[in-house]
Amino acid sequence: MLTNDELSKWDRESFFHPSTNIGQFARGEGAQRIIRTAEGVHIIDRDGHRLLDGFAGLYCVNVGYGRTEIADAIAKQAQELAYYHSYAGHGSEASITLAKMVMDRAPKGMARVYFGLGGSDANETNVKLVWYYNNIRGLPQKKKIISRWRGYHGSGLMTGSLTGLELFHKKFDLPLAQVIHTEAPYYFRRKDAGMTEEQFSAHCAEELEKLIAAEGADTIAAFIGEPVLGTGGIVPPPKGYWQAIQKVLARHDILLIADEVVTGFGRLGSMFGSDHYGLSPDIITCAKGLTSAYAPLSGSIVGERVWEVLMQGSDEFGVFGHGWTYSAHPIGAAAGIANLKLIDELGLVANAGRTGAYLNQRMQAALGGHAHVGEIRGEGMLCAVELVRDRETRAFFDPSEGVGGKVVAAMLRRGVIARAMPQGDIIGLAPPLCLTEAEADVIVGATVESVSEVLG
Ligand code: PLP
Repeated sequence: MLTNDELSKWDRESFFHPSTNIGQFARGEGAQRIIRTAEGVHIIDRDGHRLLDGFAGLYCVNVGYGRTEIADAIAKQAQELAYYHSYAGHGSEASITLAKMVMDRAPKGMARVYFGLGGSDANETNVKLVWYYNNIRGLPQKKKIISRWRGYHGSGLMTGSLTGLELFHKKFDLPLAQVIHTEAPYYFRRKDAGMTEEQFSAHCAEELEKLIAAEGADTIAAFIGEPVLGTGGIVPPPKGYWQAIQKVLARHDILLIADEVVTGFGRLGSMFGSDHYGLSPDIITCAKGLTSAYAPLSGSIVGERVWEVLMQGSDEFGVFGHGWTYSAHPIGAAAGIANLKLIDELGLVANAGRTGAYLNQRMQAALGGHAHVGEIRGEGMLCAVELVRDRETRAFFDPSEGVGGKVVAAMLRRGVIARAMPQGDIIGLAPPLCLTEAEADVIVGATVESVSEVLG
């Protein structure tokens, strides 16, 4: 039970909410929802509404809500050792055990994991690692990072720059000069150019090649990408994309950072997206699924090529001068251990593949022929429905109409949470990996009804 009936007022008066229209919110106009509790795939708000969380929070509560195994592990850790830092060779049983568990699950070729708190700080770490690496190698000019339009890598200064979405740049003086963007691997939006998927992948690789030539390969340190574009629209890569991109990177001595904050630990039906698509990254970012968001924790998994150079550098440069007070926080680590055990015990990676495929198939069968559905796409436990004004000409709605937002609002009235993705009329679904087929049916039913309510 919530005991304070002034919460709404305090919320409007005191709380600076992230990613919110703060003016509207402060004036009492924007939506407000106060969550009281949650269980399984449902959250329950203050007014007793029980909502099926089709986005697992922010695609992070992968094992579902209310897992006592994780809650108990957190409580036990808080009692035994709530905190100690991990600087200068210190560790806890939890942080060391989790490091071993992460490395046991990581794709091959990985050497160590550095723990942070969230995806943004992990990517900040990654950029610093890459710069440090090239300084040790005597290549101080090789520093720029290539990211993709529509990529999402966080909202810090560097990571907000890496993010290729206008909302995260405008009026923040971003992107920073060291970041350059290349074409998004978004086949649906390029089919009009008459390319096959493979041709489009080759085109993306050519665009990358041109960008590298224009900037000078000796100025470019790394390429960062999500195996499946997430916040940019939930877009699986076109066929052959990663193979084509990796060839270009290898030719120019450019590191690959696979941002697996969404895809890490099972969402695609494989432990990592890198395994799923045959990537050989030099660094992997993970966060969300590492603890299923029961506590904040992220990881930068560093590959052997980078690790060896960092090791060589340590004799010359001494202490690796990068750390957060809460790096490898024991409570986050305890949550991570319990979470990874649960994922194994419940077979959630396999369920993400199986039930995710069911969700995508049912959605396709129910809505694939709708006059205003341009594409239904997904991979594992990710699904997106992209709405268009005209299916034949692939004309999009004017963003000011807010069609995606209206459909998501209609879904909410039916008790299902989806996410209106920030750029385009795209209904995003990323439910907990423990979703059942019956729950997938509820999501599909609500989507179908809501699309017809808004678009006929
Ligand atoms: N990278 C990816 C792929 C993400 O999806 C996100 C968050 O959604 C981040 C990084 C940033 O993570 P955080 O919000 O924990 O800083």
